[in-house]
Amino acid sequence: MTHKTTPHLVHIETFGCQMNESDSELVRSLLKQDGFAFTDDRERADVMLMNTCAIRENAHNKVYGHLGELHAIKKERPLVVGVLGCMAQSLKDELTKKVPLIDVLAGPDAYRQLPMLISNALQAQEQGFSKKAFALDLSEYETYDGVMPDREGGTNAWITVMRGCDNFCSFCVVPYTRGRERSRDPQSILAEAQQAAALGYKQITLLGQNVNSYRSDDWDFAKLILAVADTPGIERVRFTSPHPKDFPRPLLEAIATHPKICKHIHLPLQSGSDRILDLMGRLYTTDDYRKLVDQIRQLIPDIVLTTDIICGFCSETDEEFNQTYQLVEQVRFHSAFVFAYSERKNTIAARKYPDDISNEVKSLRVQRLVDLQREIGAALNRDYIGQRVPILVERDATRSPDQWMGKTDGNIAVIWNKGTEPLQPGMFTTRLITDATTAALFAE
Ligand code: SF4
Repeated sequence: MTHKTTPHLVHIETFGCQMNESDSELVRSLLKQDGFAFTDDRERADVMLMNTCAIRENAHNKVYGHLGELHAIKKERPLVVGVLGCMAQSLKDELTKKVPLIDVLAGPDAYRQLPMLISNALQAQEQGFSKKAFALDLSEYETYDGVMPDREGGTNAWITVMRGCDNFCSFCVVPYTRGRERSRDPQSILAEAQQAAALGYKQITLLGQNVNSYRSDDWDFAKLILAVADTPGIERVRFTSPHPKDFPRPLLEAIATHPKICKHIHLPLQSGSDRILDLMGRLYTTDDYRKLVDQIRQLIPDIVLTTDIICGFCSETDEEFNQTYQLVEQVRFHSAFVFAYSERKNTIAARKYPDDISNEVKSLRVQRLVDLQREIGAALNRDYIGQRVPILVERDATRSPDQWMGKTDGNIAVIWNKGTEPLQPGMFTTRLITDATTAALFAE
């Protein structure tokens, strides 16, 4: 630490996926251990950190917009600016050339060095000069074992069980920004689950870029999730994001039989065309995917299935898009994240395949799938009308503090008016579903 008598105040903004949210919890923990304090108020911050995402164009643009705002603030007063995470890792040259205000760059495997890097930058600033520090080495071993995340509260505790990815899907930058796949020691994961339960969390979501590839000695993901689900005090266990290639029968049986493992599987499809799946390097065919869905539904009839789809991947024809459309009609997902393909630097697709589908065609395809998915999602949600479903209360509804928002076991949002029942976030209630839209169920 530098010699300021009160702790230096850090403000952190997080972009992108839940892995990044979870990484920000690690960063807070590491910096607090070193004497830093955190503030939500940007005006008071001595240090502004951005934990960035390089996966989608949207997050990328938001980070650049945010850096523009920091530029204005840094002109007015001393400020250390740090960029962490995937963009720091993948766009070091671009960021340092285009954005000279950055003092610290730290990739996803370098967070243990952050307290030192920030302290050095603060000291340099106090002495009237600027010192830039970059830590971007990827590690084959770093899993942040032993760093207890500094959680923000709520009902759900995220626990990262593995980091990195070895799959090299051709559109994806993650293997380059987060490095090789590595799994945490199961005992440290179980200790973290117990700690979360002791802090009052009711739900745990196991996280990993490829969560069901988890392996540590004789522990696979099925054994791990069963052990986490047995943690006293934890009522629900979820996981994200899995790869369709890693669903052995014991894992499906674990989901089917353990009452605390939620009956929700996010199963990224990406495309309904075998040629495009092959170009994407997804390691399964549409036939494999259909068979997996059939097996899941046979073993877990009340499963809620959700997915991710990319429209307009390199050279995707109308016919191939229609195959995706038809597969979505057949499988009937509860919800789907539908994205237009956007080329990411340094990926296999960027090197090998031209991004040759116009933005207009991509948008039309996205819109057609979104419209289809809305109809399917609304129809599936209407099936809940008349049923009484257990709900974990999460928080006030966004639109009204007079309503609660909670989630079903299948991760579907439910909204209902607050009554006389003394509910609190983290409690369970069972309610009669009276109405439904694509986005939510409404209860009595
Ligand atoms: S499985 Fe594919 S899409 Fe998922 S993180 Fe790995 S490379 Fe990216």
